[in-house]
Amino acid sequence: MRATLADRMGRLGTETAFEVLARAKALEATGRRVIHLEIGEPDFGTPAHIVEAGIRALRDGHTHYCPAPGLPQLREACAAHLSAHRGLEIDPGRVVVAPGAKPFLYFGVLATCQAGDEVIYPNPGFPIYESVIRYAGATPVPLPLVEERGFAFTAADLAERLTPRTRMVILNSPANPTGGIMPPSLVAEVAEVLAGHDCWVLSDEVYSEMLYGATHDTVAAHHGLLDRTLLVDGFSKTFAMTGWRLGYAALPADLVEPITRLLINSVSCTAPAVQLAGVAALTGPRAEVEAMMVEFDRRRSAVVEGLNAIPGVSCVLPEGAFYAFPNVTGTGMDTREVADRLLAEAGVAVLAGTAFGAHGEGYLRLSYANSLENIGEALAAMGELLGAVAV
Ligand code: PLP
Repeated sequence: MRATLADRMGRLGTETAFEVLARAKALEATGRRVIHLEIGEPDFGTPAHIVEAGIRALRDGHTHYCPAPGLPQLREACAAHLSAHRGLEIDPGRVVVAPGAKPFLYFGVLATCQAGDEVIYPNPGFPIYESVIRYAGATPVPLPLVEERGFAFTAADLAERLTPRTRMVILNSPANPTGGIMPPSLVAEVAEVLAGHDCWVLSDEVYSEMLYGATHDTVAAHHGLLDRTLLVDGFSKTFAMTGWRLGYAALPADLVEPITRLLINSVSCTAPAVQLAGVAALTGPRAEVEAMMVEFDRRRSAVVEGLNAIPGVSCVLPEGAFYAFPNVTGTGMDTREVADRLLAEAGVAVLAGTAFGAHGEGYLRLSYANSLENIGEALAAMGELLGAVAV
């Protein structure tokens, strides 16, 4: 039988969020009310001036293929933004644009890692990391994020896992699924450890502008690490643009051509009208983005307070992104069962922490990208169900 899948497909994982969303939608189709706390995207509309810029670009005829690494004006805007926001000096020639930040995780790992290599990645972490590491044939080496440290790790934890086989270290701050951050002091210590080890660094910074008071720092700004860091950012989260599909990365000079080649082989280029909307996002007014963060902050307080009031549940205050990662071990149930029962019996869709790796056992991920009213209703329903089963 020749009409079968390639063996490598057995190593490619997925994102459970999409599966839970499908199950929640199926339940809704039967007439049940479901409150969605599983989806990792802002529930706000894309700011109006960005939408206008996209429409204008379409009307102006930006409807054809364009340069594979991105339009020069967007590459320049990204370089200027990264330079100003991170205190770096980034040449626009190192910036590559893609349909989302995700292609840089996929192509970044595929371009650099192979069988025999080890890749260190955060666990619990964005599931795509482990998936693409395995797909590339490399060995995933989890770096556990620990609740007691605000879901961070220590420089010593990282140093312990570095070996001569380590080809890449993946970092993500602020983090999905925990909402934890690497404080600037940790970034500096980690950069020092990395400075002594010759490997690639992939720093996924898609939530860099979604912070509640803390300051963002990047390892790329220390010890010349920019030269071997794939600094990944995007528009999905900051500008509520998930469906537009737009991301960018400042790449080590040697990776610009190979990653552009992978883009040419897969998507050719990123829709030019979308890219011009991206220029408007980076260079235009920030009022709507700021208002969105004020609202997220209110929800963050409500979610954490509400979760901590539920018997068997405790939740640390997340410092970034729009996720809470409560500990539910006190319910006495395993994590998957808690998530399944919350959907089936309480009509609240959340993700089991294990969807983000083995170290997510004992936790749930709640996305507070929903109205305060719905969040209140979800917490009440959760309290009723979990209060009844708490040990
Ligand atoms: N990196 C992390 C940590 C994410 O949480 C996500 C989306 O959920 C992405 C990357 C992908 O973002 P994009 O929509 O830009 O592809």
